[in-house]
This record gives sequence, C-alpha cells and structure tokens, in this order.
Amino acid sequence: MTAKTSNIQLYSLCKHKETLEYHIFLARKTDDKCFFSSKISLCGAMSTEERSTCISNCATEEEIRERAATIGDRVCGNCMKTIYKTENE
Ligand SMILES: [Zn+2]
Repeated sequence: MTAKTSNIQLYSLCKHKETLEYHIFLARKTDDKCFFSSKISLCGAMSTEERSTCISNCATEEEIRERAATIGDRVCGNCMKTIYKTENE
C-alpha cells in the first residue's frame, strides 16, 4: 500500500473566547480549505462555536506541538495529552 500524505491527521489550535485557553481540534483539508473534523476539542471541553481565533489551521501534530511550546501553559493540558496518546497507539 502506498502512503498518502492526505491521510495524515491534521489539527487546528484554537483559542476559547472566554477562558482564552487554547484547545486542539481534529481537522481535515479538502481542496486546500481547512475544515473541522470534529466540533468538539480533543479534551471534550470546548466546541468550535466557542472559538475566537485559530492560530494554526490544518497543522500536523509536530507543528501543533511546536506552536503549543511557544504559547506555553495557555494550551489545554488535556488536549496535549490526547495528541501524544494518539501517536503511541
Ligand atoms: Zn482542551
């Protein structure tokens, strides 16, 4: 089987409009447009409707981690745990 790059799981990093905390959402790309694959964040605590801005759209796991490292503790710890767990499964 040939690996297709389009099958790589993508993520978006979005800021909650009230708590100002960043949460991670599953995302997918179609025709160069980015969509949310799930309306609920990885941790389950935030919905896409509660977002103010997304600082990363359809980013790879590695890009999300790098971005999250620059933001620090304002990134939801549960979302980060979930993204790490997914890789090891
Ligand atoms: Zn979260």
